[in-house]
Formats: sequence, structure tokens, C-alpha cells
Amino acid sequence: MPDCLFCKIARKEFGSAVIYENGDVLAFLDINPRAPGHAMVVSRTHSETLLDLPDEALAPLFEGVKTVTGMLQRALAPDGFTIGINHGKASGQAVDHLHVHVIPRFTGDGGGSIHTVVSNAEGRGWKARPKDSFSPSLKASSEAHPPKEALEEMAARIRKAQ
Ligand code: AMP
Ligand code: ZN
Repeated sequence: MPDCLFCKIARKEFGSAVIYENGDVLAFLDINPRAPGHAMVVSRTHSETLLDLPDEALAPLFEGVKTVTGMLQRALAPDGFTIGINHGKASGQAVDHLHVHVIPRFTGDGGGSIHTVVSNAEGRGWKARPKDSFSPSLKASSEAHPPKEALEEMAARIRKAQ
């Protein structure tokens, strides 16, 4: 895709702060970092989402993510990472070339977990379970959880699509 910004960055036709590259992937710093060292890893193969990335490009991309995460750990000693993909416009994907964000996290940095990205409880149609039926790990949480049957029904629907 000649007009794609991240393809241009991968071909070095457009400047970026490259931190890692090999024959398959390139990693560079986000121009608008949400944290020190906020990096993005892209495949040199253009695809908009994971669903159209050729299978043979998958492992190199995630090997690149692992390598870059290790480099950031050694360079910046963060306390953790948030690693994720804005996948499709509804999720906030702004650049139409699949990219994996690797965001170093520091204790007390004010950010939330992936669970804070969306809370689409409306319309799911379940009522909160009584607290005593929660598993021990959920008892501490004040959030409502769907009944077991609702999760099983959703899992069955997704399994059918395999
Ligand atoms: P997303 O919402 O996941 O599509 O994020 C796109 C990301 O690309 C944003 O975090 C932007 O800050 C970043 N970005 C856009 N243009 C550039 C660029 N030229 N170099 C580095 N990062 C960029
Ligand atoms: Zn591209």
C-alpha cells in the first residue's frame, strides 16, 4: 500500500524514531507517547487488521513485540506494560496499518488496566448475580457480573464460528 503512513515509515520514506527492525518488522516510538518509551511494532507486510495479516507474518510480528518489550524493560525498567491493538475504527484505530502498542507502565502512573478502555454493560441483558454466588476472586469486586448461563451462551455462540 504505497500511501500508507506506516508502510512509508517501514520503507524509511518517512522519518520515525526507530528502536528495532529486522526483515519482517519495524518498531518505532509513538509520535504522541502516552508514556516514556511508548512504542509501536508493525509488520513490513501491509494489513489493516489481524484478520487480513497473512498467517506467516503473525509469528514475526509477535516475536517483534516480545523483543521490543524486553528492550524497553532493560532500558527503562518500567513496573509493567500495557500491550494492545486498536483494532478497527470502533476501537479507535486511526492508522489503517496494524500496529501493536507497547506502553511501559509505572506504578502510580495514573493509567488504568485494559478493563478501563470500555464498559459496555448496557444492552447485554443480564441482571447482577447475588454476591454470594460470585467466585472467591470476584467477591471483592463491586461490579455486576453476568450469570454463568449468559457466559456459557456467549461461549457457545462464539465456538460455533470457529
Ligand atoms: P491508533 O489509534 O492505534 O491507530 O494509533 C495510531 C498511533 O500512531 C497514535 O498513537 C499516533 O500518535 C501514532 N502516530 C501517528 N503518526 C505517527 C508518526 N508519523 N510516527 C509515529 N507515530 C505516529
Ligand atoms: Zn501499510
